[in-house]
Amino acid sequence: MQCAAVGKPLIKFNHCRKHIYSFSVPRCCPLCRRDVGSRKLEEAPVSISNPFVNGHQEKCSFLLRPTHGTFLRDYDGRSDLHVGITNTNGVVYNYTMHGVQRDEAGWEQSVSVPLLQPGMFGLMDQWDKYLEDFSTTEAWLPHRYEEEHHNCYSYTLTFINCVLATEGKEQLDKNEFTEKFVVPRTRKASKYITLYRAVEEHGFYVIDHPHQEPSPPPGSGLC
Ligand SMILES: [Zn+2]
Repeated sequence: MQCAAVGKPLIKFNHCRKHIYSFSVPRCCPLCRRDVGSRKLEEAPVSISNPFVNGHQEKCSFLLRPTHGTFLRDYDGRSDLHVGITNTNGVVYNYTMHGVQRDEAGWEQSVSVPLLQPGMFGLMDQWDKYLEDFSTTEAWLPHRYEEEHHNCYSYTLTFINCVLATEGKEQLDKNEFTEKFVVPRTRKASKYITLYRAVEEHGFYVIDHPHQEPSPPPGSGLC
């Protein structure tokens, strides 16, 4: 059962040579009103992967959410984003003008990026202590906060670089971090949000089959 905070599950089925997205398969096709019951296997509905997870159930991960409101309701592709790091109990450490916050709620609809490679058990055992010690250093006192240059991104990036150093990997600079961790996820989230809101508003959303054979141009008959 999916957490309500991440929205209703979206599915896709095929009818009328179109892809039709909705929250559940209707009895009849919204386009032709015919029965959708007798489907061929290739027409069976598929679920669309949801880019959002409940961040409090993610261990040792980087999380991303809108600073105000939620992705599904409020995000417009340009909204400010807030970022944080989870410990092994789903507590989200994040840096604001009030210093390092340890949130046990509020990140129920987040984009998550796991930070530990599978099998890094040693690091996982140490994770909560690393994160706590890192967070109590002088760099993250409230008065050091600065909206442009010493913010939630600086905090998470500096921590991620500590983890990378421990794993013997190269450090990331701010641009690489944004390109690698933030942009691909917000792009995917934006697409999903557009689809989700359209289904919410109209009950379904239709696109042409991307693999549909284009009609041949005049005069190019196949032999
Ligand atoms: Zn139809």
